[in-house]
Amino acid sequence: DAKGSGRGAVKFFVEDMALAVRRRRQLGAALRDALGHGQLTLAYQPIVDIRTRRVTAVEALLRWRHPKFGAVSPSEFIPIAEETGSIVEIGAFVLNRACRDATNWPAHVRVAVNLSALQFERGDLEATVRRALAESGLPAERLELEITETILIGNHAEVMAKLNRLTALGAQIALDDFGTGYSSLSYLNDFTFNKVKVDQSFVRDMKTVGGSKAASIIRAVNAIGADLNMTVVAEGVESAEQLQALSALGVDGAQGYYFSAPAPAEEIGVLLLKELAETRTPLAPERQRT
Ligand code: C2E
Ligand code: MG
Ligand code: MG
Ligand code: MG
Repeated sequence: DAKGSGRGAVKFFVEDMALAVRRRRQLGAALRDALGHGQLTLAYQPIVDIRTRRVTAVEALLRWRHPKFGAVSPSEFIPIAEETGSIVEIGAFVLNRACRDATNWPAHVRVAVNLSALQFERGDLEATVRRALAESGLPAERLELEITETILIGNHAEVMAKLNRLTALGAQIALDDFGTGYSSLSYLNDFTFNKVKVDQSFVRDMKTVGGSKAASIIRAVNAIGADLNMTVVAEGVESAEQLQALSALGVDGAQGYYFSAPAPAEEIGVLLLKELAETRTPLAPERQRT
């Protein structure tokens, strides 16, 4: 009967909750050792200029493989690392590693690193960024820092001051997952971002150039980007149709499985060198003579 199944549903719900809480606690504890045990690595995903089809940047994305839990998704472990505070140390590791890896790649390619709100609140983010640049030798102009609107919600003035100092170092600042937050437009008014990344949910819903709400929103973001001198990049591009539609809308850049899934540094390095060789072919000495 209805009452019985209702009680059953509540029982399963409570059991699921308990399991979820236990997993969260276990992952939180395991995360504290993850760095030291070498379980955290970075994968890199290209960001492509839609007009030239050349890679302009690669985004560093954390990967965690635990002996017992296996591969844990960042969308699960990043929030936990933020809650436990581990993200400050992990974030510094990501900055160091990403800057170092990027020094092996062609000089026109930037590396993008995601930052969490806690990295702005605790520790000295500017010093951490400075150190990562100094120790790797990567020019600051080749580092792009991706932040989301959640960073801007808290201590607004202080965060703005910190962002301005990072900009003064020469780093680029990108607003990530744009369109999914709360007061996106006021943030655009308060700070001059170099880049805006349109959240993948809009790209997913964009079936054709005309006739979809998502396309209208992307068109509007693109117009703002052009006016405010920000590069606009679409995330989650999976098909030629989506790329064609974004191209027709005049969007600058695209990132997604259509071009490449996130891959280990060495693989991305090979891809970038191959691309560089191809684009340089017309200038090769034997061709120049003719
Ligand atoms: P994000 O910064 O928005 O990164 C883009 C996410 O979209 C990545 O998920 C990427 O693998 C995924 N993606 C790329 N192309 C496609 C596509 O064509 N289709 C679909 N459906 N997805 C695509 P990932 O690697 O699972 O990371 C999830 C989120 O975790 C990131 O979202 C970012 O917010 C966070 N994250 C990852 N690495 C770091 C990190 O080092 N530090 C911090 N603070 N956060 C990180
Ligand atoms: Mg990102
Ligand atoms: Mg994003
Ligand atoms: Mg995201």
